[in-house]
Amino acid sequence: MEEKTQKQIILTGDRPTGRLHLGHYVGSLKRRVELQNSGKFDEINILIADDQALTDNVDNPGKIRDNMIQVALDYLSVGLDPNKTTICVQSALPALHALTFYYMNLVTTARLSRNPTVKAEIQMRGFADEGLPAGFFAYPVSQAADITAFDATVVPVGEDQLPMIEQTREIVEKFNKIYGETLVLPKAMIPENETQRRLPGVDGKAKMSKSLGNCIYLSDDPKTVKKQINGKMFTDPQHLRIEDPGHLEGNVVFTYLDAFCTDAHFAEFLPEYANLDEMKTHYQRGGLGDGTCKKFLINVLEEELAPIRAERAKWQADIDSVYDILRDGTAKAVEKTNTTLARVRKAMRIDYFDDRSIVKEWKKLF
Ligand code: ATP
Ligand code: MG
Repeated sequence: MEEKTQKQIILTGDRPTGRLHLGHYVGSLKRRVELQNSGKFDEINILIADDQALTDNVDNPGKIRDNMIQVALDYLSVGLDPNKTTICVQSALPALHALTFYYMNLVTTARLSRNPTVKAEIQMRGFADEGLPAGFFAYPVSQAADITAFDATVVPVGEDQLPMIEQTREIVEKFNKIYGETLVLPKAMIPENETQRRLPGVDGKAKMSKSLGNCIYLSDDPKTVKKQINGKMFTDPQHLRIEDPGHLEGNVVFTYLDAFCTDAHFAEFLPEYANLDEMKTHYQRGGLGDGTCKKFLINVLEEELAPIRAERAKWQADIDSVYDILRDGTAKAVEKTNTTLARVRKAMRIDYFDDRSIVKEWKKLF
């Protein structure tokens, strides 16, 4: 469909496999709130992808049930507002299942095998040895169903999701080519700040990820945050004495400062520097201790996390309301996604019982 005549619609989401962490926050959540409050979008939809979470947790549905409420609380505590944003649950949207089934025929297994994010995840989860669930292998197809079911034009995500958006665009193009212009072509929106696109773990590993256990969660208390930073975060192993020159490469504390600190943080917590560049220069020259850097990072993160924690505490005391928000958001999403499914079936001309004209066609056969 022509993008200029399209409404501006956002769809994004998260797997309820754990509480949300700083990687989610900088990679996607923070941007969602900004976009929500920008007033520039006709619709914002956030999907709790519990079906996708099942693809690698089939033996542990309880984990997914528990984390659905954790993720919902994280959403509300960072400022997603159910009056402006539809928050919904994937498994309760039957249209997504049907769309996934149709789209499966528009991709080859060879194409799915080339997805670099899925490849890495297969290794990480040990599926290469244990056997790979077909559902996990094909989850990018179900993501294409999620995105297109909402007619999304914009998908704000971290960098690891780029192959999924690419796969979705290919499915859209192929569908539209075969069945006529039906599906909306989406675009990924990734953070401008390079570190925010893929925040490393506190252990310096390539990605902060629930599955790697290297996270600072949005709901962690100040003591835990401090412990993660002081206990696990690398600086420069050659920086033994304060006077020694320090290195920034592979220095996780500075990577996090790149992702989180602003000039205002310096004015507030470390006024001897005007900005991060000045601090980095001093560190490289020698004379700036790792303890000072870590303390500054803790202050920067606390400034961001304290209000989120406070908001979470409020919602946590009112789980009934959170349930109602999910139920109402999901009801709205059922309608929206069913409309898309009807359009898809019509384009494929498999809407047999919505349209009796097929009888005329059948009669012509005889
Ligand atoms: P899992 O290990 O279960 O896959 P995850 O931590 O990778 O969990 P997802 O639910 O898969 O989280 O990802 C949700 C969103 O958060 C996606 O848009 C993803 O790109 C983004 N995201 C996840 N981790 C990071 C990270 N470390 N840096 C930036 N963005 C991230
Ligand atoms: Mg993931």
